[in-house]
Amino acid sequence: MDYVRPSIASMRGYVPGIQPDPSQKYIKLNSNENPYPPSPRVREVLQRVNFEDLRIYPDPMSLELREKLGRLHGFSAGEVICGNGSDDILNMVVRTFAQPGEGIGFYEPTFPLYRVLGVIQGGRNLALPVAEPYDRPPDPPSEARVFFLANPNSPVGFLYPLSLVQDLARKIRGIFVVDEAYVEFAPENALSLVRQMENVIVTRTVSKSYSLAGVRLGYAIGRESLIREMFKVKDPFNVNRLTQAVVSAALEDQDYFRKNISRIVETRDWFTREARALGYRIIPSQGNFVFPQPPQKGRGGQFFRALFDRKILTRHYDEEGLRDGVRMTIGTREEMEITLQVMGEIRKILE
Ligand SMILES: *Cc1c(COP(=O)(O)O)cnc(C)c1O
Repeated sequence: MDYVRPSIASMRGYVPGIQPDPSQKYIKLNSNENPYPPSPRVREVLQRVNFEDLRIYPDPMSLELREKLGRLHGFSAGEVICGNGSDDILNMVVRTFAQPGEGIGFYEPTFPLYRVLGVIQGGRNLALPVAEPYDRPPDPPSEARVFFLANPNSPVGFLYPLSLVQDLARKIRGIFVVDEAYVEFAPENALSLVRQMENVIVTRTVSKSYSLAGVRLGYAIGRESLIREMFKVKDPFNVNRLTQAVVSAALEDQDYFRKNISRIVETRDWFTREARALGYRIIPSQGNFVFPQPPQKGRGGQFFRALFDRKILTRHYDEEGLRDGVRMTIGTREEMEITLQVMGEIRKILE
């Protein structure tokens, strides 16, 4: 393996959730996808796609889309950059703002990609453990050139309040990234901090909230002086033609978007109450997922397998602070009713 950089050879890459063949009838609650289809306008735009245009490169600047996103959030196109999913955006952030050897910080447990990106870019990962109830995280290390805060955080769904996010962002001289992949399911967001502070970048994705994980689009909002530098780093044609058209159509259907979000939030809050009544422990989640823990300690792995055997896919993380439960996406109301029933049976088996 001498050809390979030692840091790559020795690392474990990012492990995505299983994507089973759709013909296998799983209730798929393992990747925080939206259980409802995207807006019907997406279908219309796909039917109108000009087949011959596919031979031409897409707009490298995604300008129309950035203008639309800017208008939606009250920013200019120059303060927005689009990526091939927000994974692509996070990668650009590291490459733009952290030199090899410089500190890349994040709390753990969190989204595992931050660590992987840090290794790939030759950064020095500064992982700070946080434990329940998560509301008093240690200060971010001041030497961090980039600090990632997933808010709401995964896999538990804890939301750091805005005032705390601002305090944390003040503690570092580098870039403070608020990864808002799930923020549309939460009551507040950090866009106001982008206006108030020069080192805050907010990242978003259409994967979860707009039911568009399959088309890959994420974006960042930040000061124009920062976004401009990220443009130098991005792959020239990182957002394909179909994605630009599809997301542009989906953004126009805000009614559909809001209904979709409120259905999931209602299901989440109802499910949380019902699962607690069965004896499961659930920390309040502000995302489109929850982290139920069976009453018996240390049984997260068994809980995961028992659900799996009954065709319900979730995620179990064999890590400090996460072993006792599973991360479970909020599916349709019907899927969650079945899941609750199964959880009632499993509880007795685990005893
Ligand atoms: C899903 C997720 C992402 C990635 O989103 P994509 O746009 O699908 O790449 C980024 N951060 C967090 C915390 C996520 O959960």
